[in-house]
Amino acid sequence: MTVMSKFDLTGKVAVVTGGNGGIGEALAHALAEAGAAVAIVARRVDKAETVAAAIREAGGQAMAVGADVTDVDAIEPMLDSIESELGPIDIFVNNAGICEHKPALDVTPEGWRQIFDVNVHGLWNCCQAVGRRMAQRGSGNIINVGSISAEIVNRPQMQPAYNASKAAVHQLTKSLAAEWAPSGIRVNAIAPGYVGTEMAEVDNPKFKPYWIDDAPMQRAATPEELGPSIVYLASEASSFMTGSILKIDGGYTLW
Ligand code: NDP
Repeated sequence: MTVMSKFDLTGKVAVVTGGNGGIGEALAHALAEAGAAVAIVARRVDKAETVAAAIREAGGQAMAVGADVTDVDAIEPMLDSIESELGPIDIFVNNAGICEHKPALDVTPEGWRQIFDVNVHGLWNCCQAVGRRMAQRGSGNIINVGSISAEIVNRPQMQPAYNASKAAVHQLTKSLAAEWAPSGIRVNAIAPGYVGTEMAEVDNPKFKPYWIDDAPMQRAATPEELGPSIVYLASEASSFMTGSILKIDGGYTLW
C-alpha cells in the first residue's frame, strides 16, 4: 500500500452531522473527494440536500437525512436510513454543535441546557448508537469536532457553557477510544481554532482584536482547511491513532 493510497476512502460510508453548516459542509466535501459515500445529517434537511446535491454534481455519492441529534429516538432511524441506502457506516463525524457568546452571569438555565444538549448529549447519542453497530462489525472510525475552547478561555466573552461542553467532548473522545480500541473502533477529535463560519463571527469588531489581530497567523481558518485533517483521521493513514485530539488552530494556543 503506497502512502497516498492510505488516504483513499473509496468504498467507505461516512456520516457528517451538522453537514449543512460552515465546517460540516467542507468536511462532507473532503470525505466525498477522498472517495467516501457521504450522508449529511442536520435538522434543516433542505439545506442538507443542497450539500448532497453539490457532491453528487461533482461526481460523488451523497444523501441528506433530517435528524435532530438531541432526540435520542431519532438516532436509530437515522442510522437505519443511511445504512439501507449507502451500506454499513465506516466513518462517523460528530460535527453538529452550537455556541452562545455570553459571559457566565448572563447564561440562562435554558441556554446552558441547549449547549450541552447538542454539543454533548447529541454527540453521545450518536457515538453510542453508531459505536454499538461498529463494535458488532469489529471496525469503525469516529471523529468528534472539539475545539481549542476545551483548553482556553475565549476572550472577551468567556462562553463558559460552550467551553465546558467542548472539554466534555475531548474527554469523551479519550474514554471511548480506550474502551472501544479492542473492538476495532478508533475515536479521535479535531480541535479547531477560529474558523470563518456563521457561528464564530470572526469579523465582529467585539471579537476580532482577540481572535484575529492577536493570533500568530492573524487570520481565521477557512472551513476547507479542516477537510484534509478529517480525511487523515478517517483513513488508514492514521491507523495507529486513537484518543488523539488534533489541534488545528494556526498557533492560537501558543500564547
Ligand atoms: P454552524 O453553525 O455553521 O453549523 C452548525 C451545524 O450544526 C449546522 O449544520 C446545524 O444544522 C447543525 N446542528 C445544530 N444543532 C443540531 C442538532 N440538534 N441536530 C443536528 N444538527 C444540528 O457552525 P460551524 O460550522 O462553525 O461549527 C461546526 C462545529 O465546529 C461545531 O461543533 C462547533 O462547535 C465546532 N467549532 C467551530 C469553530 C468555529 O470557529 N466556527 C471553532 C472550533 C470548533 P441545522 O440547524 O440544520 O440542524
